[in-house]
Amino acid sequence: MTVDPADRVEQVPPSGIRRFFELAEEMDDIISLGVGEPDFSAPWAARDAAITSLEQGRTSYTANRGRRELRELIAAHVDDRYDLRYDPDEEILVTAGASEALDLAFRALVDPGDAVAVQQPCYVSYVPGVLFAGGEVVPVETRAADEFELTRDVLEAAGADRAEVLVICYPNNPTGATISDERLHEVAAFAREHDLTVLSDEIYAALTYEGEHTSIATLPGMAERTVVFNGFSKAYAMTGLRLGYALAPPEATTAMNRIHQYSLLSAPTTAQYAAIEALETCRDDVEEMCAQYDRRRNYVLSRFAEMGLDCFRAKGAFYAFPECPRDDAAAFAEELLEEQGVAVVPGSAFGAAGEGHLRVSYATGMGELKEAMARIERFLPA
Ligand code: PLP
Repeated sequence: MTVDPADRVEQVPPSGIRRFFELAEEMDDIISLGVGEPDFSAPWAARDAAITSLEQGRTSYTANRGRRELRELIAAHVDDRYDLRYDPDEEILVTAGASEALDLAFRALVDPGDAVAVQQPCYVSYVPGVLFAGGEVVPVETRAADEFELTRDVLEAAGADRAEVLVICYPNNPTGATISDERLHEVAAFAREHDLTVLSDEIYAALTYEGEHTSIATLPGMAERTVVFNGFSKAYAMTGLRLGYALAPPEATTAMNRIHQYSLLSAPTTAQYAAIEALETCRDDVEEMCAQYDRRRNYVLSRFAEMGLDCFRAKGAFYAFPECPRDDAAAFAEELLEEQGVAVVPGSAFGAAGEGHLRVSYATGMGELKEAMARIERFLPA
C-alpha cells in the first residue's frame, strides 16, 4: 500500500446514517424521515443578501474570526434571546457550520489521552471528533426512563468525574429531549465540582417548543468553563451555506482560532452576508418554521400514540424518538424501507444508548408526513 491512513482515522467507523441514505437513494417512492435538515429553503431575504454580495464582488476572505458586523449581530442576538453576553472581538468565532466549531474545540481543548464525557445518544460527529483529537470517550448514557434528560445520577454512574471535558446537546439530536432548569443546574454543579470544561451544542435552541431554552453558560460559574455552539443551519434552514459559531472565553476562542486560521482562514464569505441579513430581518421566518415544526411534532406524536408506539414527548429540535416495537431496530428500519419505502434511522446509529429506538425526523412536509405515518401503521404488527 502506498498510502497508509493514520490509525486514529481508521479506528473510526463510517457514519451509520449514511448507509441508510445510500440504500434509500437507490429506491423509488421513498419518504425520508431520516435526514436531519430542514425541508425549508433559507428565508428569501437571506438568499437575496447572498446574491447581492456576489453581485457586488464581495468574494474575498474575511477576518479569521468572521466579519465584525456579523459578530456584533451574533452578540446582540444571543444577548437578546438567551441572555448570553459575549465580546465580539474576543469571545465569538464564526465557523463553517457548528461542525467546524465542534471539531476545532475537540482539537484545541482535548489533549491526547484526555477523557471526554459525551452525553448519549448523541449527534454522530462527537465521538469521531474526540477520537480524531486523540481523546478517550466516556459515554454518559441518558435513559428513556428519564426522557433522555441528562442527570447528575447518570453523570456519576458513567464516571464522568474523571473527564476533562463534558459534551452535552439540547434540544437533542437524536432524541428531541431538552433539559429542565433543575437538571441543568445539577449538571452545571457537577461540572464546577469536577472542574470540567463543557462543550454545549445548542444548535437547536431556537427550535424549543415547550418552555424557554436556557443556555448552561448563563448559570453561575459556567461561562468561564463553557463553549456554546450554535449556527444558522437549523433555525434559518441554511445547512448548505455552512455557517455556525462558537461562544467561549477568550482563551478557548484564541486556541480554536489558531487552528481555524490555518485550516479554514475564514468561514464562507457569501454565507456571512446571508447570516447578517438573517439576524437583521428574518426572525419572523424562524418563528413561522418553528410553528410548522411544532404542528408536525404534535401530529407525529399523536399518530404514534394511536398506533400504540411508545414515544416520549420530545420538546425540541425536529426529531421524535419512539421505541421500536421489535428487538432489532436496525432490521426493523431496513424492512420498513424495503417494504413501505419509509426511511427512519435506527437509534443505535447515535450510540448504544439509542438501541431499541428509531429516530424519526419531522423536517418533512405535512402531506408526506401523513403518508409516512399511514405506511408505518400498515407495517406495524397487528
Ligand atoms: N450539532 C447537531 C446536534 C446537529 O444535529 C448538527 C447537524 O445535524 C450539527 C451540529 C451540525 O450543524 P452545522 O450544519 O452547523 O455544521
